[in-house]
Amino acid sequence: MGRPGKMADTTELTPEQVNMSQVEAVGLFGIRPYWQDGHNTGIFGLRYLRSLCSCEECAAASLPHTART
Ligand SMILES: [Zn+2]
Repeated sequence: MGRPGKMADTTELTPEQVNMSQVEAVGLFGIRPYWQDGHNTGIFGLRYLRSLCSCEECAAASLPHTART
Protein backbone atom coordinates (compact mmCIF):
# COMPACT_ATOMS: atom_id res chain seq x y z
CA MET A 1 0.00 0.00 0.00
CA GLY A 2 1.21 3.50 -0.82
CA ARG A 3 0.66 6.73 1.04
CA PRO A 4 -2.90 8.03 1.20
CA GLY A 5 -3.59 9.99 -1.97
CA LYS A 6 -6.03 12.72 -2.78
CA MET A 7 -8.84 10.15 -3.03
CA ALA A 8 -8.41 9.14 0.65
CA ASP A 9 -10.43 12.18 1.80
CA THR A 10 -12.85 12.17 -1.12
CA THR A 11 -16.43 11.21 -0.35
CA GLU A 12 -18.00 12.32 -3.60
CA LEU A 13 -16.74 12.48 -7.17
CA THR A 14 -17.51 15.27 -9.59
CA PRO A 15 -19.23 14.51 -12.90
CA GLU A 16 -15.92 15.27 -14.63
CA GLN A 17 -14.23 12.54 -12.59
CA VAL A 18 -16.73 9.85 -13.51
CA ASN A 19 -17.60 10.71 -17.10
CA MET A 20 -15.41 9.06 -19.68
CA SER A 21 -14.44 11.22 -22.63
CA GLN A 22 -12.75 8.48 -24.62
CA VAL A 23 -11.31 5.02 -24.23
CA GLU A 24 -8.35 3.38 -25.90
CA ALA A 25 -7.38 -0.27 -26.28
CA VAL A 26 -4.19 -1.35 -24.52
CA GLY A 27 -2.74 -4.34 -26.33
CA LEU A 28 -5.14 -7.26 -26.38
CA PHE A 29 -5.72 -7.31 -22.66
CA GLY A 30 -7.06 -4.01 -21.42
CA ILE A 31 -8.46 -0.55 -21.88
CA ARG A 32 -7.39 2.92 -20.76
CA PRO A 33 -10.26 5.29 -20.03
CA TYR A 34 -9.81 9.06 -20.45
CA TRP A 35 -11.90 10.96 -17.91
CA GLN A 36 -13.34 14.43 -18.43
CA ASP A 37 -11.22 15.82 -15.57
CA GLY A 38 -8.14 14.99 -17.65
CA HIS A 39 -6.81 11.93 -15.88
CA ASN A 40 -6.00 8.79 -17.83
CA THR A 41 -3.46 6.88 -15.76
CA GLY A 42 -5.55 3.77 -15.10
CA ILE A 43 -5.37 0.66 -17.26
CA PHE A 44 -8.06 -1.92 -16.64
CA GLY A 45 -7.65 -5.52 -17.70
CA LEU A 46 -10.52 -7.02 -19.66
CA ARG A 47 -10.51 -10.07 -17.41
CA TYR A 48 -10.81 -7.81 -14.34
CA LEU A 49 -13.69 -5.87 -15.86
CA ARG A 50 -15.46 -9.14 -16.69
CA SER A 51 -15.07 -10.21 -13.08
CA LEU A 52 -16.85 -7.03 -11.91
CA CYS A 53 -19.88 -7.53 -14.15
CA SER A 54 -22.70 -9.72 -12.90
CA CYS A 55 -24.45 -10.36 -16.23
CA GLU A 56 -24.78 -13.96 -17.39
CA GLU A 57 -22.36 -13.61 -20.31
CA CYS A 58 -19.57 -12.20 -18.16
CA ALA A 59 -20.20 -14.63 -15.33
CA ALA A 60 -19.77 -17.51 -17.80
CA ALA A 61 -16.70 -15.92 -19.40
CA SER A 62 -14.91 -15.28 -16.13
CA LEU A 63 -15.20 -18.82 -14.81
CA PRO A 64 -11.93 -20.73 -14.77
CA HIS A 65 -11.55 -22.71 -17.97
CA THR A 66 -11.85 -26.07 -16.22
CA ALA A 67 -15.20 -25.14 -14.65
CA ARG A 68 -16.79 -23.97 -17.89
CA THR A 69 -18.12 -27.33 -19.15
ZN1 LIG B 1 -21.39 -8.35 -18.53
